[in-house]
Amino acid sequence: MTNRRTLLKAASAVLALSLAGPLAAQSTEPIPVVATFSILGDMVERIGGEHVAVTTLVGPNGDAHVYQPTPADARAVSEAQVLIVNGLEFEGWLDRLVDASDFDGLRVVATEGIEPIAFEEGEDHHEGDDHAEHDHDDGHKDHAEEAGHDHDDEEHAEAGHDDHHHGAFDPHAWQSLGNAVAYVDNIAAALAQADPANAADFYQNRAAYVAEIEALDAEIREIVASLPADRRTVVTSHDAFQYFGRDYGLTFLAPQGLSTESEASAQDVARLIEQMREENISAVFVENVADSRLLEQIANETGATVGGTLYPGALSGPDGPAPTYLDMMRHNATTLAHALRT
Ligand SMILES: [Zn+2]
Repeated sequence: MTNRRTLLKAASAVLALSLAGPLAAQSTEPIPVVATFSILGDMVERIGGEHVAVTTLVGPNGDAHVYQPTPADARAVSEAQVLIVNGLEFEGWLDRLVDASDFDGLRVVATEGIEPIAFEEGEDHHEGDDHAEHDHDDGHKDHAEEAGHDHDDEEHAEAGHDDHHHGAFDPHAWQSLGNAVAYVDNIAAALAQADPANAADFYQNRAAYVAEIEALDAEIREIVASLPADRRTVVTSHDAFQYFGRDYGLTFLAPQGLSTESEASAQDVARLIEQMREENISAVFVENVADSRLLEQIANETGATVGGTLYPGALSGPDGPAPTYLDMMRHNATTLAHALRT
């Protein structure tokens, strides 16, 4: 096995060398790039244009948290010259997939260089970790801290949450348009490294894309600025919008944690309902990748309205409201603002 893999690796290294030679510079063949999920896939297509052939592993409306890679994915990774991943332990299945492939290309973490939001909610749990008392400095999480901590230990001991592990940081960093600029920079640099002959095109595409990202950021700031101060807390299925909340001054609550792997416990749901009543939180939002029944039940019990569907971590199909990353961000912002204004 080891010998076979070593041989294959040597063979693909030779192949990579020959592709990087003069032939590649003249070639119009697009380079094979794998992106782990639809948002990254869209970004890579924007930067790479005609020079890349992108394979996206977790497609539109797919849930990357609980994804099961296929043999076709391993083949795509084996053939890729560049593999673009989110990082921050978003793709828990990735290392096994890469091990199962003969990938010998450039692996790029799109979140490299961003300022990640530290994981700090009491609703999730690391055995032996004592992160309950020292991380209140973020402001927007205070509600969860207050509401949560007295119950955590018994609840998690009983629920046995040791089957889900995630990083010390919130992986949903693409929910910040500021972070998206870092994603795009990392992607452009990676493509330029893999295909230097077309670097100028990648950087030109990057500049145009960043201008659009910045314009949308300004547009969303304006939309959110018009919301009253007491209508800025909303409920979503899982905890995917902390970056969006940080950028735009909204507070997001969720019965489920950072990953959709873990079910919301009855206590988490009861606590959330209580908090919604106390704070008059009037809107809940369902997600494109998640079952909406729990949110509908919470809306029924609290009298909150279901404000629409948000897209936390996957694009819609081409006919949906979020076929591209920028469409997704705009759709989320306008859906939130519409529900919070009415
Ligand atoms: Zn998520």
